[in-house]
Amino acid sequence: MSGRALLMWDEAVTRYDFGSSHPMDPVRLALTMGLVRAYGLDKQVDVVAAPPAGDSTLRLVHRQDYVDAVRAASADPGAADASYGLGTMDDPAFAGMHEASALIAGQSVAAAEAVWAGEAAHAVNFAGGLHHAMPGGAAGFCIYNDAALAIARLLELGAERVAYVDVDVHHGDGVQAAFWEDPRVLTISLHEHPRLLFPGTGWPEETGAAGAGEGSAVNVALPAGTGDEGWLRAFHAVVPELIADFRPQVLVTQHGADTHFEDPLAHLAVSLDAQRAVQAACHSLAHEYVEGAKWVALGGGGYAVVDVVPRSWTHLVGIAGHAPVDPESVIPASWRDEVFARTRELGPGRMTDGRTVSWRSWDAGYDPADRLDQAVLAARRAAFPLRGLLA
Ligand SMILES: [Zn+2]
Ligand SMILES: [Zn+2]
Repeated sequence: MSGRALLMWDEAVTRYDFGSSHPMDPVRLALTMGLVRAYGLDKQVDVVAAPPAGDSTLRLVHRQDYVDAVRAASADPGAADASYGLGTMDDPAFAGMHEASALIAGQSVAAAEAVWAGEAAHAVNFAGGLHHAMPGGAAGFCIYNDAALAIARLLELGAERVAYVDVDVHHGDGVQAAFWEDPRVLTISLHEHPRLLFPGTGWPEETGAAGAGEGSAVNVALPAGTGDEGWLRAFHAVVPELIADFRPQVLVTQHGADTHFEDPLAHLAVSLDAQRAVQAACHSLAHEYVEGAKWVALGGGGYAVVDVVPRSWTHLVGIAGHAPVDPESVIPASWRDEVFARTRELGPGRMTDGRTVSWRSWDAGYDPADRLDQAVLAARRAAFPLRGLLA
């Protein structure tokens, strides 16, 4: 199936800005959109802006007292209430914080609505994927959980099965928490081991609330240093089988680019080429197992803001837009000029890290002494039997 995809974009999402000393520099969003345009992908997809999420939408996931606290901190950053995680090192308050956060959430919610209505099979919001925000608090650079809000909106519209696949280097804890008791939402997160990395959750034993929620969360806790082959092996050993069995009506994926070997905040060693391969795999899963190939793809973390994030998410837009960017292509000089003007850095020259991606299939067997295989086994053994699948 082809068909045009949506790319959600409003320049004002770059106002989601925690300040110059914070790693989540909004230049990563501006540079991504610049690279999308440099490749002409904005002509291959429909670029649309949605309004910010209103309170009744935010309340699908968040508590009103938290939304009120965000709004108060947004109006007066000096008065941010740290008991809500606001005005902290990770989530400093800034003027306009509520508006920028609600705008990002609005893009993800509108992406979900459009896909659900069949207006487009795929929709991308690379400004979204703010997966750490909790119902009653900010966490990990995330104010409103646009991923959870998009899913909650799908449920409100009548969806009975939504799958969420999160390949950010950090655990998708906020989304997991939002649907912990809800069998309609299957959350799958692959991330660096919680012993080593924020937020300290995402253990394989976290499989959903006892009772109805049992088996609705799946967590693959990867060893530090995991590279392309291990990361792809783990993804393919866990995700396709779950999606094939669950048959979601919509697939929502989060593509945090902080798994990359250049990322300063974590310790996996994944290349751009493997990130692109997982994006393409998610696209294929949508076509194979989701009626109408309904797919909402979100961004997420990613702190190598010049070298990695724009390339990774430009590939995502190309894949969703059925106009994939050739990894070998030389990046247009116009974009590298933009990079230099904005950052005084020299941007990357090609859309590849020069890696050839390959992995060993789980079906070919595993090695119980291998740490990566142990991580996969732990995830499968904890969650698969709860879903009626063989571990
Ligand atoms: Zn497609
Ligand atoms: Zn992350």
